[in-house]
Amino acid sequence: MKLKTRLTIAFFVIIIVPVLMAAAAFVGFVSYQLKSMEESYGVDDLTYESFSNSLQMLSKSTQNIFEGMQEKAGADADAFLDTTYLEELNEQLRGRHSYLVVRKENALYYSGSSGSITRLFLELPDFGESSQASDSGVYIGRDVDAFVKQVDMTFRDGSQGSAFVITAVNAMVPQLRSFVRDMLVSIVVILMITGLLLAAWLYSGINTPLKKLKEATQNIKEGNLDFVMDVEGEDEISELCRDFEEMRQRLKETAAQKVEYDKENKELISNISHDLKTPITAVKGYVEGIMDGVADTPEKMDKYIRTIYNKANEMDRLINELTFYSKIDTNRIPYTFSKINVIDYFDDCVEEMGVELEAEGIELSYFNYVDKDTQVIADAEQMKRVINNIIGNSVKYLDKPKGYISIRVKDVGDFIQVEIEDNGKGIAAKDLPLIFDRFYRTDASRNSSQGGSGIGLSIVKKIVEDHGGKIWASSKLGAGTIMFFVLRKYQEVPVNE
Ligand code: ADP
Repeated sequence: MKLKTRLTIAFFVIIIVPVLMAAAAFVGFVSYQLKSMEESYGVDDLTYESFSNSLQMLSKSTQNIFEGMQEKAGADADAFLDTTYLEELNEQLRGRHSYLVVRKENALYYSGSSGSITRLFLELPDFGESSQASDSGVYIGRDVDAFVKQVDMTFRDGSQGSAFVITAVNAMVPQLRSFVRDMLVSIVVILMITGLLLAAWLYSGINTPLKKLKEATQNIKEGNLDFVMDVEGEDEISELCRDFEEMRQRLKETAAQKVEYDKENKELISNISHDLKTPITAVKGYVEGIMDGVADTPEKMDKYIRTIYNKANEMDRLINELTFYSKIDTNRIPYTFSKINVIDYFDDCVEEMGVELEAEGIELSYFNYVDKDTQVIADAEQMKRVINNIIGNSVKYLDKPKGYISIRVKDVGDFIQVEIEDNGKGIAAKDLPLIFDRFYRTDASRNSSQGGSGIGLSIVKKIVEDHGGKIWASSKLGAGTIMFFVLRKYQEVPVNE
């Protein structure tokens, strides 16, 4: 899940869930407290409204007792002069956060309050001011804060009196108080739980990929690239992990390439030293021979000098090849591409080589099947190097008394295909894919009489590929080899006028 989606969900959850849970808690607590109030005040028709209206609540709580008092006042007013009855009544009222006050004429006859009621007494309504409705009462403010219900009566001795049920208003109904407390606590708990759960959910989504990323970074820091970081998920951090994994793979490839490259370089240095050492040893040997007077006849001397000359040439050729290879390998040979007519170009090549090959007793045949105006874009000089190298190999690895080389140029759609076939010693199937690698020689011994360096075909391959072409070979050991390479034909792009 995307981080953005996760945060949006978290935002709504943190608003909606606490609201819903608080509403549920509200309903639950109110019902519970209403029941508790019904039980403790002996009323049975409490509504949500009475819960929020404490005056009504207070009035209701003493209603039953008050009705009893009204009845009693009608039937036997003198009972209100009986302290035992009054104590009993007061006891009942105390349970409802109220107390009883009885006034006879204008004097206080009984007070159920534990404290002083002097101020309240002065504020009490006069005789006859009472309302007959059982649940009505009056509220007395002025520092007293009391809800007063009054029942008037006339005693047997003719005197008038009133009994008052006084309910302290400042003391909130305890259920209401505990409700407020419970509500506050539950809101805090709900907020904490929702917050915690959301934080855990957000954290788990981020933490797993982050942990993997951290491990991976640690691994790379320690130079270890051999691990796999598989992180699933659509969020941004998982995407980052996958990019990181890709980076690791690339790093690993680069590191492997570097190792390979270093190995090749070491091999190259060892090969060069070996290939240079062989002719140098020979030159040294012949020079020593001359110095020691071994070449004591003019013929011998001539032979020695010629050998020294040939060996020096061999070294020169090797160094040239190496220099060229290192230049071409690092793309330091600038090609000069031009449009070349295939027929003209190969005709010239064959003519040039034909003379040399004829001198060596090798038969050359040449077939060009392309259209007379087929052209390729190529560097004429480097192409000549390619052809000379291939033909040079054919001559070098010729093991038959009668050598034969055939050059064929064919049209294969968008390309021209050049095939150079010889009847030399051929290449074993296992060596065939490797002959284009630098320094690869089928003859494992480097003291080969043919004296190849193993660089020739790698140069050829590089040149052909730099021309956008491909090169490959087919061969049969003992029978001969065919070298193939293709070059893209130049096609005039029609200009729409
Ligand atoms: P070298 O300088 O040794 O000839 P190349 O890169 O030109 O190096 O060739 C690589 C190897 O491929 C040679 O050593 C040789 O064994 C083999 N090879 C190339 N061309 C031919 C061929 N026409 N016939 C037989 N073997 C060949």
